[in-house]
Amino acid sequence: MKRPLIGVTCRYNEENEEISLIPTYMNSVAVHGAVPILLYCTEDESLLRSWVDLCDGLMISGGPDVDPSYYGEERHEKCGPACPSRDRTESRLFEMFREAGKPILGICRGAQLVNALLGGTLYQDVPSQYNDGLVHSIPNLVPAWHSMNIVPGTRLHKILGVEECTVNSFHHQAVLKVAPGMRVAANAPGGLIEAIESTDDSWLFCIQWHPERTFQDDEVSNKLFCAFVDACR
Ligand code: MN
Repeated sequence: MKRPLIGVTCRYNEENEEISLIPTYMNSVAVHGAVPILLYCTEDESLLRSWVDLCDGLMISGGPDVDPSYYGEERHEKCGPACPSRDRTESRLFEMFREAGKPILGICRGAQLVNALLGGTLYQDVPSQYNDGLVHSIPNLVPAWHSMNIVPGTRLHKILGVEECTVNSFHHQAVLKVAPGMRVAANAPGGLIEAIESTDDSWLFCIQWHPERTFQDDEVSNKLFCAFVDACR
């Protein structure tokens, strides 16, 4: 059987011009038979087009805060520094993969970017703007953990097969207003949105936790990657 190709976006340090990505993003789909391909920041439309034609699906990975201009807001004093070239590249990739009808998985920043691109808004700084008594991020990528409720009847519920699980949490921002065409698929116990999914039958899931760091030991997280690779086949 032909292995599906999945484009995975990555970090870009504009100062020293280096790209980077924790390889578990790649491994999480490779273990299910996909061939992950790293998509770096570029403005080259013909290269972007070739990636979209070549790849069967897109994973938008985690990273820095999205520039608030993408959802029509002024920068909050606690919004982190943006990466303009990454915002541009991933926006274009999202539009093109969406237009091509190919599966898309947004993780953390990827989820926030997709919600902004589709017309939703974000909490620019969860700790000061949404006080639910939970810790959603600890500095230096130390994982916080909290439970998560999956909305019964959603497609995410069908994939994960549980109504509650525990997830890691590394996010500084989160979905505030859900974009048109998307719906809430999971919440933290205090109500903060942890996952959204498309309301039509396109394969578009956007999640706030980091299953790429736990899929080896966490059957629930692993199911999402399994479903993603299946959809890309
Ligand atoms: Mn969280």
